[in-house]
Amino acid sequence: MRDRLEELQSQGLAAIQQAEAEEGLRAIEVRLLGRKGEITSVLKSLGTLPAAERPLLGQLANEVKQGLAEALQARRSDLQALAMAAELEADGFDATLPGDPLPGGGVHPVNQVSRDLEDLFQSMGFQIADGPEVELEELNFDALNIPADHPARESHDTIWITPPDQRGAGKQGVVLRTHTSPVQVRALRRFGAPLRVVAPGRVYRQESLDATHEHTFHQMEGLVVDRGVGVPHMLHAMNTLIEGVMGRKLETRLRPGFFPFVEPGFELDARCPFCKSGCGVCKNSTWIELMPGGLVHPNVLRACDVDPEEFSGYAFGLGLSRIVMLRYGIDDIRWLMSGSLSFLRQFHP
Ligand SMILES: [Zn+2]
Repeated sequence: MRDRLEELQSQGLAAIQQAEAEEGLRAIEVRLLGRKGEITSVLKSLGTLPAAERPLLGQLANEVKQGLAEALQARRSDLQALAMAAELEADGFDATLPGDPLPGGGVHPVNQVSRDLEDLFQSMGFQIADGPEVELEELNFDALNIPADHPARESHDTIWITPPDQRGAGKQGVVLRTHTSPVQVRALRRFGAPLRVVAPGRVYRQESLDATHEHTFHQMEGLVVDRGVGVPHMLHAMNTLIEGVMGRKLETRLRPGFFPFVEPGFELDARCPFCKSGCGVCKNSTWIELMPGGLVHPNVLRACDVDPEEFSGYAFGLGLSRIVMLRYGIDDIRWLMSGSLSFLRQFHP
């Protein structure tokens, strides 16, 4: 029986090595290891042997069986690899060719400008604040000296989540914030004075859309509250900011401007960086309206529990979307939120 086992082993291994296909291997497996296979029948006949011979021959038979099973599995893997290689070659596949490049992502131009400005403000000692885009009426308007009957509330063309005629008695309305100023109220209430904070973010208004008006756009507003702060401090900060934004000093001028949350209020204009005698960007005036600002209204300080007798402050707003358009020469604000890949890819060649 030992001879028979060894013969089956050597013949079996040779047959497995010569098998050229999966079907051949399957036949060999059945012939040797199947229910009526040759190894199986040897194992079955072990019972007829004298008891003394059974353990050794039994062990040998099991080793032969296991060896053949492993050889079958190894040959099967080899055949599958060969078959796959042949198939790939028939397809003309060449694993050494370079692959298709994956398109890379990039930072949106609005975020890029916002990050640049955040760096600039941080270097000037400001902290960056964030706040909710769905905001309470009180924070978006009342705390900023814009009471319920104030005309500025209508001029903001607010998108209401809970409109005034639907809020219950004693309850507040909820709006999509119309400016980032409520973030400053939140910051001042939370941290108190003195404070230097800048709030970049997305704001919403009900607008008729055209090349310069979009329902969703970006602002960055700054607030400084401290003892003895006045207009010269504000001018210095605004000029530094313009230099940082445009990459060089521009001539600026102040005009009076009206905003309920500042007194006095200003509009800061900068000389058009694109022309000397007028162009489309500056509407032929050679000046660009860049930044509203002013000294914080005492009512706003009081609404934030800051004593206007002790502290004063200045605030300024920056149309982030507008700055992005100026920096990159974009002529229609609607591109910014369009999600158009052909537009965005121009910023990431
Ligand atoms: Zn111009």
